[in-house]
Amino acid sequence: MSAAYLEKLNERQRSAVEHGVASGVDSGGPLLIIAGAGSGKTNTLAHRVAHLIVNGADPRRILLMTFSRRAAAEMGRRVERICSQVLGAKAGSFSDALAWAGTFHGIGARLLREHATEIGIDPSFTIHDREDSADLMNIVRHELGFSKTESRFPTKATCLATYSRAVNAEQPLDEVLRDSFPWCSAWEKQLRELFGAYVDAKQAQNVLDYDDLLLYWAQMMGDAVLAEEAGGRFDHVLVDEYQDTNRLQASILLAMKPEGRGLTVVGDDAQSIYSFRAATVRNILDFPATFTPAAEVITLDRNYRSTQPILAAANGVIELARERFTKNLWTERESAERPRLVTVRDESVQANYVVEQVLQNREGGMLLKQQAVLFRTSHHSGSLEVELTRRNIPFVKFGGLKFLDSAHVKDMLAALRFAQNPRDRVAGFRLMQLLPGVGPQTAGRILDAIAADPEPLTTLSEIPAPPRSGNDWTSFVDMLEALRPGRAGWPSEIGTARNWYEPHLERIHEDAEMRKADLLQLEQIATGYPSRERFLTELTLDPPDATSDQAGVPLLDEDYLILSTIHSAKGQEWKSVFVLNCVDGCIPSDLGVGSTAEIEEERRLLYVAMTRARDSLHLITPQRFFTHGQNAQGDRHVYASRSRFLPATLLQFFECSAWPVAAPAAAGQRDAQQMRVDVRARMRGMWR
Ligand code: ATP
Ligand code: MG
Repeated sequence: MSAAYLEKLNERQRSAVEHGVASGVDSGGPLLIIAGAGSGKTNTLAHRVAHLIVNGADPRRILLMTFSRRAAAEMGRRVERICSQVLGAKAGSFSDALAWAGTFHGIGARLLREHATEIGIDPSFTIHDREDSADLMNIVRHELGFSKTESRFPTKATCLATYSRAVNAEQPLDEVLRDSFPWCSAWEKQLRELFGAYVDAKQAQNVLDYDDLLLYWAQMMGDAVLAEEAGGRFDHVLVDEYQDTNRLQASILLAMKPEGRGLTVVGDDAQSIYSFRAATVRNILDFPATFTPAAEVITLDRNYRSTQPILAAANGVIELARERFTKNLWTERESAERPRLVTVRDESVQANYVVEQVLQNREGGMLLKQQAVLFRTSHHSGSLEVELTRRNIPFVKFGGLKFLDSAHVKDMLAALRFAQNPRDRVAGFRLMQLLPGVGPQTAGRILDAIAADPEPLTTLSEIPAPPRSGNDWTSFVDMLEALRPGRAGWPSEIGTARNWYEPHLERIHEDAEMRKADLLQLEQIATGYPSRERFLTELTLDPPDATSDQAGVPLLDEDYLILSTIHSAKGQEWKSVFVLNCVDGCIPSDLGVGSTAEIEEERRLLYVAMTRARDSLHLITPQRFFTHGQNAQGDRHVYASRSRFLPATLLQFFECSAWPVAAPAAAGQRDAQQMRVDVRARMRGMWR
């Protein structure tokens, strides 16, 4: 008799789950599950992990890589649920031991920290997020004199994007410039020099950026002994959303499991939406032939998520794609309701329409959590956020403005980071310039003085206080002393940093009280991490989401609407889904219609959005749409037409011309406008 959890799977899912599991220790040959949206890929992967554990695999020797930390946590819960059906109370301890579940970058950071000394880096390294990296690039660029002498030199963001692409795509710089940044080609020589200096600066300061986490990991795997050690500690390596990995990630996997034993990857080429970060669908397409004998390939074609009309519309979008491996899906979930194509006058009517529909659904018994509003980029939800705030509807925003982007939170984290690694120049610059009387030049001089010092904190405390900084300098040095590893202990260290920072906060920001509340929240978040180092690493790699309530704190017990960029909605599903701005200029974006490849990626993006819906799908097209470009009149609103990808015959047309009707028009308009000003200002304040 087979286990009950296997009975629920279809035949192909089951063969994927059972692949190679004669006993848990036998890892089996390489396996690829390639299938369309909602066909149960992630579910199958969770079952496979559980099945391995039930059959004796050691959960501490399973490495599971997902697209976000949230996805890893969800996978852990599923595994635990399945294991507990079979193993009873004992199962809890099994899934707790599933310690190696996370994102590629998060896992990389942990492995590097463990092997730091062996690969010649200091284990107290700190990690730069994209903004810190761009700041460091800027510092280096200034030092080389490029930005001053060459006024048309690429911006710091472009420099970083170019560098990052070359690293992640494992592509020479001249090719990267030719293919992706042709307008920077004239600067190739200078860029090369800049990138060399940028790498030197990172090394001198003992900081790693996102790309380094993969790059150093790959380097580490180049050493036969370390590769054997890192690969050998895992019997099973499983990766979800494989279509969105880049060349570097694929080479790491291959180095971990050169023969593919115990390696399972799962993905959908039709959902590849991260090529702007050098992800390549070739990874998934080339996977089978990478191994001898070739990897086993299992395809799934039954969709369990969406109703037939939703699936038909999604298939309608993707079947016109130029190049595609996975086939159209089918479902048994009948419904008479086609996805709605809703035409509205503009974005404010769009916001009203969504809110009315969401509330209507809630009255019908659907929780807010079971509904999601998806959009292309974070700023597209502005009008909706205003409307939700006005009507007191709680929401959580995924992939949008991040809690950690606010200046005061960054200042606090810089204090912790600098105490951990006093060579981190970006953190040091940020902190010292909080002190009255200390400008960039003074800060630069002080940082230079301690840069090569084996005991930088001690030297720092011996430096005379800069003129006019007086007591502030002393309390700064005292704070850093108190934060030396092992002094205050975690998490009280964060209290030490806050006590030091608050007087500066009060001096700098008018809305200090509101910001102080954020710092308390940060302290609360910190208690969830075992150490300062884990806290800093994980927060930098995968920051908490913004909520309508207190930033960064998930509203765990409450009901809340989900707002998400399409990119961050990957892998998830909701009963009801609203996709904003389904117009040409947005999807496809007017920034992304250069090449066929870009247009194709935009098509897949819409496919991902539509396939998140289980029961109802609303595609909304405002006739007036705010765009990046300007029309001839200099008006940034343009008249838009519906997205060229939408399969009109499979949709139900719906016009929403006048909304709202409840409030007297003039008063209502004034209110909403005032509210927009208030909320925008508040949000701007919060996130700066
Ligand atoms: P995506 O491509 O969007 O990541 P996916 O292929 O990973 O989708 P899942 O999220 O694993 O799909 O599954 C989609 C839905 O189908 C989930 O609600 C899941 O519980 C359900 N499901 C999967 N397999 C089965 C099955 N055999 N029987 C019933 N429901 C299933
Ligand atoms: Mg999935």
